[in-house]
Amino acid sequence: MYRKITSERIFSNGGFLPDKTVLIFNDKGVLVDLVDHNDAGDDVQHVKEWICPGFVNAHCHLELSYLKGRIPKLCGLKDFVMSVMANREEEQEKIEQAIMDAESEMIKNGIVAVGDICNTIHTLFQKTKKNLHYHSFIELSGFVPGAAESRFQKGRSFQADFTEAGLSATLVPHAPYSVSEPLFQMIGKLDDSGTLTIHNQESEEETEFFQNKSGAFLDLYQQLGVDISFFQPKKNSSLQQTIAFFPSARKLILVHNVFTEPKDIFMADAQFSEHPNHLYYCLCPNANAYITGEQPPIQMLQNCQAQLVLGTDSLASNDGLSIWEEIKTIHKNHPHIKLTEMLTWGTINGAKALSIEDRFGSFEKGKTPGFFLIPDSDRQSMIF
Ligand SMILES: [Zn+2]
Repeated sequence: MYRKITSERIFSNGGFLPDKTVLIFNDKGVLVDLVDHNDAGDDVQHVKEWICPGFVNAHCHLELSYLKGRIPKLCGLKDFVMSVMANREEEQEKIEQAIMDAESEMIKNGIVAVGDICNTIHTLFQKTKKNLHYHSFIELSGFVPGAAESRFQKGRSFQADFTEAGLSATLVPHAPYSVSEPLFQMIGKLDDSGTLTIHNQESEEETEFFQNKSGAFLDLYQQLGVDISFFQPKKNSSLQQTIAFFPSARKLILVHNVFTEPKDIFMADAQFSEHPNHLYYCLCPNANAYITGEQPPIQMLQNCQAQLVLGTDSLASNDGLSIWEEIKTIHKNHPHIKLTEMLTWGTINGAKALSIEDRFGSFEKGKTPGFFLIPDSDRQSMIF
């Protein structure tokens, strides 16, 4: 059984396919051909919405789905982190149901692949069903250097659980303010080629902490009873102080980048000068609106030719898991950004960042990209 579908416009790889192209999928979702309408034979479905490839959600925390609606909006990053930590205990059954519901929501919203942060193995049971493609980022944290070895080993054992189940997984650092130098070094020295990621410059407090050792993160460590007397502030930003830990031979997705400045990008570009295509910046505008009310400097990132990808973050800090909703928020704040540009971030760029562009992100023969029907009512105000 084949499914033949066409529309007035079909987006792929930064532009539109020739007029009257028909996409032909087989029953396994493989795009077996792209042909002219005249050569497509019978049973062609003509939809009124424009079509784009399925979305790649480059940053999610599926395991936190049970926290939907529990954390107050605009609470700030420190209180957000505290709330997540305080709410880690929940009945297994509720956690699993929320994971299943969240995955169904992503499928409904046209997401086909996910870069998913894990602090536990709670999502393993669902990922093995392979309803979606997942790459799991096993997240390590621990700001006190003495904890590095035990945190690293714990992450290794989670990673083994995923890989033994046939799922791709890499060890990644949580954020500059929560990972010690030895832990960064252990991650950086791993003999692994998979994509790395880190939460980067999500709040102003992160910069304040790194430059002056002041602000809300000091309270965070105080409240957690963690002695950080060893930590010495420097004059530059968190990204500038940590980018050297990331080997340029591996891909890196920097997530949030709300307080990233041109000089940060300059430093990151220098670190990745041998492999400029390995560096990606992930935007999660709805999560930023939820936690701090701030928005990433998209215009500046574009001016610096940053490669952009899109993520939903978790249901702890978002009302839904939809890349299209993230695009709508970007459009609302930046009406001059072209639809084709935003779709590129949400499809092929995300696929490249996760090294799955051989299967996802564009309409090319042999891929299993899925597709999304762009709602007319949202699209009509967008330039393309
Ligand atoms: Zn996150």
